[in-house]
Amino acid sequence: LHRAIAIDGPAASGKSTLARILSQKLGLIMVNSGSMYRAVTWKVLQRGIDPNNREAVVQALRDMELECGVDGMVSTVKVDGVDPGDELRSEEVNAHVSAVSAVPEVRECLVSLQRDFLKLGDVVMEGRDIGSVVFPETPYKIYMDADPNVREARREEVGEVDSVAARDHADSRRETAPLKIADGAAILDTSGHTIESGVAAALEILRG
Ligand code: C5P
Repeated sequence: LHRAIAIDGPAASGKSTLARILSQKLGLIMVNSGSMYRAVTWKVLQRGIDPNNREAVVQALRDMELECGVDGMVSTVKVDGVDPGDELRSEEVNAHVSAVSAVPEVRECLVSLQRDFLKLGDVVMEGRDIGSVVFPETPYKIYMDADPNVREARREEVGEVDSVAARDHADSRRETAPLKIADGAAILDTSGHTIESGVAAALEILRG
């Protein structure tokens, strides 16, 4: 039976960095669930569909073929045979991913694909609802947070200009799977941490 580490938190709280390092240190498959929501959003936009039109988004979801896999211990996602690559992080996708991921049918489909990763091995998965919805039974849950100014600065450092605050606001307020601290999750605030000290704190949490 394979195990899962669930990492949730707002944008730029350090989830991907921690997940990548834990994946390397502990030999776990790293799954970035946000990429899956971004991939669906990318396809919706590519088809010229209004991301706020739920019915059209559901139809588009039914029409697309989503394929998840693992390449060198990192999750991959293809839509209709295409890996969207850097386009997953475009400003347009940033602006609409929250609306698309609020559609219950989209979540149902992706949560099921996310659980399937456990068939392949032990995973560290990061997102917004991993500890609350995807793997509620796992004892390994971390909720990462950081001061909004620190998060905004981190995004600017990697050249991302989207308003992290707007996306967090939408993610926290939506009816379906709003961002929240899962039952049993340990909170890790990375504002005053370096990467190294943050990883050390996470390992301490996981060791119990
Ligand atoms: O993690 P990332 O910032 O790439 O996620 C992009 C968006 O995908 C989030 O802002 C959120 O709207 C959505 N998401 C989600 N549930 C997840 C992961 C991401 O709704 N588990």
